[in-house]
Amino acid sequence: MNRFFVNDIGPDWAVIEGEDLKHLVSVLRLRKGDHVMLSDGRGSECEGEIEHLEPGKARVKTGPWRPCLSEPHHKLTLFQCLPKAGKMETIIQKGTELGMNALVPTLSARCVVQPGRDFDKKLQRYRKVAQEAAMQSHRGLVPEVLPLVELKKADLSIFDTVYVAYEGEKEQSLKRVMADRPGRRIALFVGPEGGFEADEVAALTEKGAKAVSLGPRILRTETAGMAMCAEILFELGE
Ligand code: SAH
Repeated sequence: MNRFFVNDIGPDWAVIEGEDLKHLVSVLRLRKGDHVMLSDGRGSECEGEIEHLEPGKARVKTGPWRPCLSEPHHKLTLFQCLPKAGKMETIIQKGTELGMNALVPTLSARCVVQPGRDFDKKLQRYRKVAQEAAMQSHRGLVPEVLPLVELKKADLSIFDTVYVAYEGEKEQSLKRVMADRPGRRIALFVGPEGGFEADEVAALTEKGAKAVSLGPRILRTETAGMAMCAEILFELGE
């Protein structure tokens, strides 16, 4: 069944509007009486029936809301150092499919790409990518794409555990450090194409982060975060 995110929610109804409505009408060609799944974007979902279609909105009669079963209980936030052109969108799309909860574009010493003045526009585009991927992959929420941070200024205090994927770490594998239960709020740091500088990793580990190896092969920056999301949620049974 097709899934839509809704904000305007009443006791037994909800309204689909905007881009979602265009998709519903023009692409899926749904009609009055058709059934849809709705997500409130905060982890709950329900089934509904289109009861009224008019220009600009579709009103849906909703059944009981319940927790969305596809939503992981553990919340993964990916601090992704800025990759080269176009890759961030792939990372957001795939991360959303894999269960990532939020992405923070991060500036580190070896980022080839600098954010530039039009970064706000890029953020808008990234948020749209997250929304589309969340719909496609039946997520119960749209992962947040947060504003850019500088690596050394990142606030780690809100996380239970922080893992830094570090190609220079030869001892601690992700699997091994996960033997210490990571808690529910987990942050992941992935370096840019040029990797992390040793002092960047040291600054993070001083704040409590754990440097981890993702194995004997060097993954591209766009692969590393995805591998971490998949492995962590697998290890946690999600
Ligand atoms: N230029 C670096 C590789 C950078 S890979 C070199 O040649 O050594 C980009 C990022 O992906 C790294 O900064 C790291 O965060 C992550 N990464 C890739 N492979 C990894 C591995 N085997 N273990 C841990 N992190 C890895």
